[in-house]
Amino acid sequence: MAIKRYHYARDVEEALSLLLAYEGRGALVAGGVDVARGLPGEIEGLIDITAAGLSGISREGGRLVVGATATLEGIRTSREVKAYMGGFLSEVMGHVATLSLRNMATLGGAVVSAHPWADIPTALIALGAEAVWRNEERTERAPVEELYARPFRAIFRRAVLTEIRLPAWDGAFAFEKLSRNAGDIALVNCACGLGLDAEGKIAWARVAVGATPYRAERLVAVEELLAGEVPSEALWEEAGHRAAAEARVGDDMRASAEWRRAVIPVIVRRALERAGRAVMGDR
Ligand SMILES: Cc1cc2nc3c(=O)[nH]c(=O)nc-3n(C[C@H](O)[C@H](O)[C@H](O)COP(=O)(O)OP(=O)(O)OC[C@H]3O[C@@H](n4cnc5c(N)ncnc54)[C@H](O)[C@@H]3O)c2cc1C
Repeated sequence: MAIKRYHYARDVEEALSLLLAYEGRGALVAGGVDVARGLPGEIEGLIDITAAGLSGISREGGRLVVGATATLEGIRTSREVKAYMGGFLSEVMGHVATLSLRNMATLGGAVVSAHPWADIPTALIALGAEAVWRNEERTERAPVEELYARPFRAIFRRAVLTEIRLPAWDGAFAFEKLSRNAGDIALVNCACGLGLDAEGKIAWARVAVGATPYRAERLVAVEELLAGEVPSEALWEEAGHRAAAEARVGDDMRASAEWRRAVIPVIVRRALERAGRAVMGDR
């Protein structure tokens, strides 16, 4: 790599002004897990943001606010995170890589690197998480799902992601991942959420499937199939098959499209079963 200088930004303003001053020849570094794997040849300056005051984790009412440089292990073990949605996000972090990697890697780095095989985007999309970032002009925000539909890599060449905001849901979420071993990346993953109305019918459902090998997408047709129905084993089964029909799947070095389509019903059914049990247990 052609790195000539390494800066420690003291706050977001300094990080942003350094990034802009490099005019495309600088890059932010948080945990460095991805940066260490390689950078474009033109990058001369690295701007370390781990001491820029972006590592906080807090609750705002039922919402959870996680700073961009909070580490994945810090998130997994945080009391605030364990108290949010029955510890769903903590559970997801437990599925990510290994302890040594989670001690370095940050949530912001995961959102910006946005690997299609990753677990974190799947969970954040299902949760309806919102990304907040600072650019030259202002503070901007957008749902993570919407951000990924934009040219987000270009956005973060001139902006600092500052926090991820997770909404309060009256219900429960569950995450499922299939991988070759516990520390490996997903062959396919999914995150499902359910809430019930006063009559015990499904008031809302969120279903996201990722690593297909494409980045996670919500399956709105499956969410619509679930809404208004009474939870049952047969419903989870039907939703799983509908998810397999709706999901965009492909082949890569890890698994074939055919295999992915065959296992999606299984992981979606498992996630819905667990979310359903949790939400009914709450009553
Ligand atoms: C071996 C390995 C296994 C993995 N396994 C999993 C897994 O099982 N599940 C999963 O979900 N993920 C997995 N990942 C992905 C991992 O979560 C991300 O690589 C990691 O979170 C990146 O965070 P970081 O802080 O190290 O990012 P960095 O390497 O510091 O940065 C990554 C990119 O984001 C930019 N960036 C970082 N922070 C900001 C910010 N605040 N604002 C703007 N731009 C920013 C950097 O400039 C760079 O382009 C794995 C990665 C590796 C290398």
